[in-house]
Amino acid sequence: MVKETTYYDRLGVSPDATPEQLKKAYRKLALKYHPDKNPEGGEKFKQISQAYEVLSDPKKRKLYDEGGEEAIQQGGGTHGFRNPMDIFNMFFRAGGMSGGDDDEDDDSGGFSGFFGGGRKSKKPPPVDHRLAVSLEQLMVGCQRKLKLERKRPCKACEGRGGRVNAATQTCPTCHGKGVKLSYQQMGPGMVEMHSNCPTCGASGRVIDPKDRCNKCEGNRTISDTIIKEVAVERGMKDGARIVLVGEGDQDPGQEAGDVIIVIMEKPHTVYKRKGIELYTEMTIKLTEALCGFKRHLLTLDGRNITVANPPGTPISPDKELAIIGEGFPLFRNPYIRGDLFIKFKVEFPDRLESGFVSKFEEIFPRPKDEYLPTGDEEIVNMLPHEKIERSEAHNSHGNEEEPMDTDEQPMGCRQS
Ligand SMILES: [Zn+2]
Ligand SMILES: [Zn+2]
Repeated sequence: MVKETTYYDRLGVSPDATPEQLKKAYRKLALKYHPDKNPEGGEKFKQISQAYEVLSDPKKRKLYDEGGEEAIQQGGGTHGFRNPMDIFNMFFRAGGMSGGDDDEDDDSGGFSGFFGGGRKSKKPPPVDHRLAVSLEQLMVGCQRKLKLERKRPCKACEGRGGRVNAATQTCPTCHGKGVKLSYQQMGPGMVEMHSNCPTCGASGRVIDPKDRCNKCEGNRTISDTIIKEVAVERGMKDGARIVLVGEGDQDPGQEAGDVIIVIMEKPHTVYKRKGIELYTEMTIKLTEALCGFKRHLLTLDGRNITVANPPGTPISPDKELAIIGEGFPLFRNPYIRGDLFIKFKVEFPDRLESGFVSKFEEIFPRPKDEYLPTGDEEIVNMLPHEKIERSEAHNSHGNEEEPMDTDEQPMGCRQS
């Protein structure tokens, strides 16, 4: 006759249960109340785990049967209980390795979901990492080195947080509940939010300080830094994502999360990109606009091209011309390239020599009926726009030199 049946009751078995029956009962309940599947099952998960820890050990079971929970707590060789997650991980790892254990067909779906199956296994959410890339680098592609910092299981203690069979104590953060409570305002009332306790990983227990791993200080994970080389491919777009599978955070016994590199295209001082088309502006003198010109232009892939317009085909202000095939390569199909569009800004002379006007009018006569006076009109003066604003702002002294916003800033000047 056993002294008490609490532990047997927790597992839903009778005090004469065989080790196989205990195993089966634990597996079923542990999967049901595992905090990943059942965030509110933390307390129950812990209780099942403690019961199984005692009853699966013939020595401890005997102690319990004879002296009850009191005898266990007074110390049958160990101090306190082990981390429920460790019990869980060990149980399933052992079961997984022995292959066709006993009779596992009843809930093998849940079983393989936790280990090996991969589909349902817990994976931390991916972490986004922004990578600023210049247009030149996107044009030709490049390799970039990135420093990634992530959480990894501690190698020194194999993710246990302490030595094998380490003593544990109640988690000081959640007081053994395994859940963290927070309150959030929702409409007129407050809503209670449950999440896994970050200190104990929802197990409710932490490793006793004397048994803690020196490397990870009982946290079971350490911060790990790696340098990762990332291939930025030709023609990638702003916002493109490169997934580094399994390079993110990892908790002990779980799959590693992914890192997602998000390409951020840096603004360029000369070129602006829209898809596979490139745009730029070029300022030319009036003479060049009328009489033709040649200009050097450095392309994004580092070539020096000559932009030429022959005499006889004047370029009017804001005219846009295209250079076919000098745009951006198409992503993963670099033989297809967009076009480069050049918008021309024409710089007019500030003053003209006296003799020039009459000579010019001889060549380009003005229309005869351009302006016919009526005799009763008012003649008004025109001033440069900036001058009016300035004289209003400074009343009398209107001649201070001030930097003014001009319309002639090259495109893409805003550097971030
Ligand atoms: Zn906790
Ligand atoms: Zn450690």
